[in-house]
Amino acid sequence: MKHRPGRHFLQIPGPTNVPDRVLRAIDRPTIDHRGPDFALLGKEVLEGCRAIFQTSDPVIIFPSSGTGAWEACIVNTLSPGDKVLAFETGQFAVLWQAMGKRLGLDVEFVPGDWRHGVDPAQVEARLVEDHAHTIKAVMVVHNETSTGVTSRIPEIRKAIDNARHPALLLVDTVSSLASIEYKHGEWGVDVTVSGSQKGLMLPPGLGFNAVSKKAIAASKTNRMTRSYWDWDEMLKANVSGYFPYTPATNLLYGLREAIAMLMEEGLQEVFARHRRHGEATRAAVQCWGLEVLALDPREYSSSLTAVIMPQGHDADHFRNIALDKYDISLGTGLGKVKGKVFRIGHLGDFNDLMLIGSLGGVEMGLRAAGVPHNAGGVQAAMDSLSKESVPTPVNQVTAVR
Ligand SMILES: *Cc1c(COP(=O)(O)O)cnc(C)c1O
Repeated sequence: MKHRPGRHFLQIPGPTNVPDRVLRAIDRPTIDHRGPDFALLGKEVLEGCRAIFQTSDPVIIFPSSGTGAWEACIVNTLSPGDKVLAFETGQFAVLWQAMGKRLGLDVEFVPGDWRHGVDPAQVEARLVEDHAHTIKAVMVVHNETSTGVTSRIPEIRKAIDNARHPALLLVDTVSSLASIEYKHGEWGVDVTVSGSQKGLMLPPGLGFNAVSKKAIAASKTNRMTRSYWDWDEMLKANVSGYFPYTPATNLLYGLREAIAMLMEEGLQEVFARHRRHGEATRAAVQCWGLEVLALDPREYSSSLTAVIMPQGHDADHFRNIALDKYDISLGTGLGKVKGKVFRIGHLGDFNDLMLIGSLGGVEMGLRAAGVPHNAGGVQAAMDSLSKESVPTPVNQVTAVR
C-alpha cells in the first residue's frame, strides 16, 4: 500500500475518527480483569456511562458490535411469538426487525419512505387500536444512519402514554449517542441500544444496553433463550465493577477517556457543535443544488447528512473518485438507496476545519466525477459556521499611500 501523506478523512457515519487522547489511553498493558485494579476501572466506566445516557438506570457494556447490543435487547425482554411494532425508517430499522423475526418475534413492520422518521401519531393510533395489549414493544431507531433522519423520541414516548399502552420502548441510539440530545431516563425509554464507534469516538467493539426497571422486570419472566447476552449475570457482576466474562479491557480504558472528554466539553456543547455542523453541511448541499434525503426539518440529523445524487450519476462512482483523489471516505448508500445517495458523517471528534476540509473533498470530488453542481458549497458552509460579516477589503492603492 502506498503511503498517503496527511491524515485520512474518515467521514463515514461510523466508525468515526478516534482522537489521539483515546488512542493513547487504549495503549496500555491489559490488566487482570479479576484483580483489584480492574474494579476501579469497571466502576468508573459503568458510572460514567449513566451520565452519557443521561439516566440513573444501569448501563450494560458488552464486548460486541452494535448488532450484538440489538440482540441483547431483544433476547432479554421478549418471548418467541411476541408481537412488536417497528417502523421502516431506513436500512438499520430493516435489519433490526429482520433480526427480531429470526429470533421468533411477530414483527408488525410499518412501511416508510426512507425520508421521514417515526410518526408519533401513527404510533398512538396503532396502540389505541390494540385493546388486548398484544403489542409487547415498540422498536425505534433514533437516528437512521442510512438516511440522516432523526426520530422524535419524546413525542413517541408521549404517544405510547396517551394510548395508555404498556408496550416497552426500545430505542437504537448507535449513531446518536453523545452527538444528538438523548435522555434515556427522562424520556422514559426501556432499553437504549448503542455502540462505541460513532459519537463515543472509540474503535468498534463495545455494545451498550441502558435498561429501565420495567425492562429488567420483563427480563425476569421472558422466554427467549440466551446465555452470552444475559443481563442478569452482567448486572450481578457489575455491582462490584466486574464482568462475568473477559471484558474488552483496553476499549474500557478508551471509554473512560472518551467520557472524560465529553464531560470536559459538556454534553450540551457537544450537541450544539453537532447541530452547527449539520446546519453548515446542509448549507453546502443546498448551494451545490443537490438534495438532502431528509424531508422534515424537525428530523434533520446532526450526526450525518445523506445527499441524493442527480439522476444518471452513481453515488459509489463519485465516492471512489473522492477517495482516490482526496483520501476521504464518504458513506455509501445502504439497502434500497445504494448508488442513489452518499452520506457525509459529521459526528464524533470533529471540528469546523475538519468539516470544511471534508466538504472541500466532497466539492472537489463532485467536480472530478463530473457530477453537475454549483460551486461555492464550501463557502456557504463557512458562512454558516462564521456568522460574523466579512470585513470589506482595503483598496490596495489606498493602503500603499
Ligand atoms: C452502526 C449502526 C448499527 C450497527 O452497529 P454495528 O456496530 O455495525 O453492529 C445499528 N444501528 C445504527 C443506527 C447504526 O448506525
